[in-house]
Amino acid sequence: MAAIQPASSETKPSQGGENLRIVIVGAGLGGLLAAIGLALDGHQVMFLEQATTFGEVGAGMRIPPNCFRILRRWGIDATYLKKTHSNGNRFLRYDNGALLADMPHGVPELDFGGSYLMVHRADYHSLLLQKALALGVRVRGGCRVDEYDWDAPAAILQGGERVTGDLVVVADGVQSSARAEFQGHELPPTDTGDIVYRILIPGQDLLADPEMRDLISQPWVTSWCGPEAHVIGYPVRGGEVYNVVFCCSESSMQDQPFQFGENKLLISDNSELRRRFVDWEPRVKKLVEHSGKEFLKWRLYDLDLVDNWVHPKSKAVLLGDAVHPMLPYMSSGAAMACEDAAVLRKVLQRTTKANLGSALRAYQGLRQSRASKAQKAGRVLQDAYHLPDGEAQRERDVWITKDDERNPIFWGYKARRDWLFGHDAEDF
Ligand SMILES: Cc1cc2nc3c(=O)[nH]c(=O)nc-3n(C[C@H](O)[C@H](O)[C@H](O)COP(=O)(O)OP(=O)(O)OC[C@H]3O[C@@H](n4cnc5c(N)ncnc54)[C@H](O)[C@@H]3O)c2cc1C
Repeated sequence: MAAIQPASSETKPSQGGENLRIVIVGAGLGGLLAAIGLALDGHQVMFLEQATTFGEVGAGMRIPPNCFRILRRWGIDATYLKKTHSNGNRFLRYDNGALLADMPHGVPELDFGGSYLMVHRADYHSLLLQKALALGVRVRGGCRVDEYDWDAPAAILQGGERVTGDLVVVADGVQSSARAEFQGHELPPTDTGDIVYRILIPGQDLLADPEMRDLISQPWVTSWCGPEAHVIGYPVRGGEVYNVVFCCSESSMQDQPFQFGENKLLISDNSELRRRFVDWEPRVKKLVEHSGKEFLKWRLYDLDLVDNWVHPKSKAVLLGDAVHPMLPYMSSGAAMACEDAAVLRKVLQRTTKANLGSALRAYQGLRQSRASKAQKAGRVLQDAYHLPDGEAQRERDVWITKDDERNPIFWGYKARRDWLFGHDAEDF
């Protein structure tokens, strides 16, 4: 059996609870955030990650204030993280680039107590990994978990090694192999019908073109909305790089379909993007031209409400995409995993091994409906972004400018924005 290292001297003992040996499966952003939160309280944490090298895909992502606030409280110092502060969301027509609406974030530090950052995933992952290591978290790569013993509890590695703890946190992502065992039946993620192409363009290439320069110099999250597709772009690393994601329904593409069970494809030229976006405005076509030779095409999955976040044996929980995969259109999947980690940390502060089950159920109770609401909101955005030309689209473009419940864009209505960004996961 593998031993779990003691926590570092930087950690504090849990408040009234018992220090636990915690095994985390998966070193994605969700697993890392959980590891940091739990190690801060003096729990002994070990990661098991199937990949031999740790990291994230080359793409951008957003850290909204509801997540940023937690990072700051936990001493995750973003000072040296290359980042861009977001102006907010800008919506443009797909065919002529006309402005549909600007939804400024205002001053997120004042309104929500935290910044809204646009970052490179690999930089963010590395920042979290360094923090976890500094807290004494033990990280083991090249360790694929093949089975579990939920009574022990233990994760059983390929090759048979058992890694035992008091609690197993399963953060193994959207294709989670453990999720079904929590439910007692198969629960594969749902194919949303959408695919994305994730591309990074050197910022200098856009700055050199007067028509493209504003995309870097004015750091909006820009979305071009068109029939069965939208394109979303924003600068990261302080404008060194422009992150662009082409999102479309798979049925609207004629090229290189995924084979059964295939989720990611390495694309080696931009011809299918050229064909798909041929009738979009000039800046979109230029982004396609800048997309380079190699990039990833992904199939997007989500899932309706997952009933059991806690294993019936009460010694294991699901966290992050493993339990609430969502369309990326809310740009909140990792932020929701951060909130999961914050709630899990807090319920365990008052917990002993004897009452672990009730603490874990409290975690589910505090998280489930909020995560589910974010999942559903992603689907609403999918419909709103991809409306065909016609009456419904014209109506969208009227409501999109109004601070009203009927605005189909989540952030366009202040009450929803406050719900998302103003939530303090640690306040209960
Ligand atoms: C295009 C796109 C844009 C997005 N933008 C944003 C954004 O702006 N903001 C935001 O908050 N979120 C965003 N998201 C969502 C976010 O990326 C995810 O919610 C988040 O990365 C999920 O993290 P996770 O740790 O739960 O899962 P994952 O990142 O999938 O990590 C799971 C880990 O578990 C490991 N693993 C799996 N099975 C095993 C096993 N059996 N044994 C050992 N290890 C295993 C995997 O190798 C992996 O490292 C976006 C997603 C997409 C697709």
